[in-house]
Amino acid sequence: MITEFIKTEDLSREETLVRIGETLRNDGIVAIPTETVYGLAANALSDEAVKKIFTAKGRPQDNPLIVHIGELDELYPLVSEVPEKALMLAQKFWPGPLTIILKKSDAVCESVSAGLDTVAVRMPSHPVARAIIKASGVPLAAPSANVSGKPSPTTAEHVLHDMNGRIDMIVDGGESAVGVESTVITLCTEKPRLLRPGGITLEQLRSVIGEVELDNAVFNELQKNEKPSSPGMKYKHYSPDADVLIVRGDLSGLVKLAESCDKDRTAVFCFDGEEASFPNKTYSLGDRNDPVEHAHRIFDLLRKADEENFTKILVHCPPKDGVGMAVMNRLLRAAAFNVIEV
Ligand code: AMP
Ligand code: MG
Repeated sequence: MITEFIKTEDLSREETLVRIGETLRNDGIVAIPTETVYGLAANALSDEAVKKIFTAKGRPQDNPLIVHIGELDELYPLVSEVPEKALMLAQKFWPGPLTIILKKSDAVCESVSAGLDTVAVRMPSHPVARAIIKASGVPLAAPSANVSGKPSPTTAEHVLHDMNGRIDMIVDGGESAVGVESTVITLCTEKPRLLRPGGITLEQLRSVIGEVELDNAVFNELQKNEKPSSPGMKYKHYSPDADVLIVRGDLSGLVKLAESCDKDRTAVFCFDGEEASFPNKTYSLGDRNDPVEHAHRIFDLLRKADEENFTKILVHCPPKDGVGMAVMNRLLRAAAFNVIEV
């Protein structure tokens, strides 16, 4: 399959959007920019189209997808009920990086919800994503547009690297602003529960609907017989080829550890101003107290370190409050929960 690459400037031609919409309506799959990460989109009402996503990504069949809508009206046909709290969250955070899990209707095809009786729905804010949803005229199922298990793509070039030859089109809409996937909250448990932290923080959710539980799997490795609240939690995730190690402690401890590693094969992720302390190649996550910037950079840096063939990445442990919770959640998985104190 030849993958067509659509440049940002071509999107100003109405004809281009019409063609993208047609491709999606005809069961094609198209990588689209969103404010979180790039998504691999297909018509959520077509089982045949959605199955192609699983094939292109190598995604396990039992891992359900998020359905993307353009307007609130489009939520109702997808779900069997819309609780008050869903409306409160939608009103406050949509369009934006929040996914809400609700009881599904029959319109959602089997493979989207992977056999569950619930569906995850989000309304993205990225203008190109919104224009594409509108042009397609259907809700779009879209997981992150990476090969399953790899760091999520935050640029069209990342998508090209993973998906060239596997999908119909890649639409370039620039760098994803948030840089990590959406916050996922379920309203199908006894109390609302945060399943995956993202650009909308736990505090923000609580300020709108009150009590929200934090799922155990956000910071902890799933135990052997533990049933995950979200099927995606049980899979390897966000992993570069290099081994990642999260290092807790002060700069001097990390420097000592870095010095003891093969410096040609070991990269260090640190914060602004720390770079000169290391003999190794460093990549800065940004200012230490700016988790929004850490989120924006993390996946791109993991990919960059792979491109330069490092086999080990030491990461100076970032603070985990606010959006930092999302960064820590991704890093823990990228590191297969390997954390040390220095
Ligand atoms: P991604 O598509 O890569 O952004 O991942 C979507 C995440 O949402 C995965 O971890 C899925 O397991 C999770 N998810 C999607 N739909 C549901 C659902 N109905 N119930 C629980 N988790 C879901
Ligand atoms: Mg993903």
